[in-house]
Amino acid sequence: MSARILIIEDNVTNLALMEYLLRAFGYDVVSAADGEAGIAAAERERPDLILMDLQLPKLTGFNSAARIRELDQPRVPIVAVTAFAMVGDRERVMAEGFDGYLSKPIEPETFVTEIEAFLPQDRRAAPRSDPAR
Ligand code: MN
Repeated sequence: MSARILIIEDNVTNLALMEYLLRAFGYDVVSAADGEAGIAAAERERPDLILMDLQLPKLTGFNSAARIRELDQPRVPIVAVTAFAMVGDRERVMAEGFDGYLSKPIEPETFVTEIEAFLPQDRRAAPRSDPAR
């Protein structure tokens, strides 16, 4: 079964693009437009993966991720998707409990493949041949 992916993003254009791409591959997509709504959605929807903008209303992506880590549920991978381009930002993201980091702008050609690296093989929508076999 394809994964459920929670997108926490306040920019409607970026959100629409990510939703479109993931749904086109058959993913079950849920979204939230601010940090507090994102935490509630993480608790309610039990996603397999969370894509987190860092600059969000009400609560930053960093604080939202920390709160999600405190939920009484299995650890879910959280990937930062952000336009932050400051030196050291990637290091901070990885140090603060995220599993990965994708830079905006979102590249439609590679986005789904990139996020699938954070999903178990059996939860990916489009099984691919494994070059290692
Ligand atoms: Mn934002």
